[in-house]
Amino acid sequence: MKLFVLGSGTGVPSLRRGSSAYAVQAAGRLILLDLGGGTCRALLRHNLNFSQIDIIALSHLHPDHIGDLVPFLFASHYALGYTRREPFWLLAARSFQDFHHRLKGAFGEWVEAPPGLLQLQELNPDGPDQAAWEGLTIKSAPVNHIPGSLAYRVEAAGRSLVYSGDTDVSDSLVELARGADLLILECANPFKVPGHLTPEEAGRMAAQAGVPRLMLTHFYPPCDEVDVIAMVAQEFAGEILRAEDGLVVTVG
Ligand SMILES: [Zn+2]
Ligand SMILES: [Zn+2]
Repeated sequence: MKLFVLGSGTGVPSLRRGSSAYAVQAAGRLILLDLGGGTCRALLRHNLNFSQIDIIALSHLHPDHIGDLVPFLFASHYALGYTRREPFWLLAARSFQDFHHRLKGAFGEWVEAPPGLLQLQELNPDGPDQAAWEGLTIKSAPVNHIPGSLAYRVEAAGRSLVYSGDTDVSDSLVELARGADLLILECANPFKVPGHLTPEEAGRMAAQAGVPRLMLTHFYPPCDEVDVIAMVAQEFAGEILRAEDGLVVTVG
């Protein structure tokens, strides 16, 4: 299992950190965890392409996590002779269909996938849920951010990684992450902002989940002015990675 950090930032425009997006290669499939602005372009840096995406899992509908949904759908519909022919799956909390319907009200057919190709699986926003393919399972759990915010656990070939999306302290996320090989956890600011984690809270949650490896991400600019790894290390004894756009990590 391989993880590509496409966007380790937020909604703050930054040359260093794009909006939230992560690509995972697992069980022969390309999975996107969130689709912040610039994702389709960031894939190219790793010789990946929007046309290869098999599964998109959306953590929540804040603009910094779905900003490239419209460009992705537009490119899939029609990009100078390219029309997507392979189906793709989209995982999102229940009510996504209503959101997509409203997008279509604004953009019309340009944000419709070619007929029959978009396989939507709406997930339970209030409890655990999952989607499965041959050799691959993606589990979800609600997290404490805005209604309908989900964290995801990708499992394949005995390996697993968990992505928090945006979250405040969440027992459901600790449960989902228990024993995972890698936990990708938001660490938005070095001070408390409700709905997000401080470095100390992120470290405590990783310790509770018992993971060996933690990747901190979703950094607002103040996080780049402090030593977040040292702050997290006060609470968590495992390996700590600081996400950067372009980073590639092998899981397991
Ligand atoms: Zn965010
Ligand atoms: Zn958010």
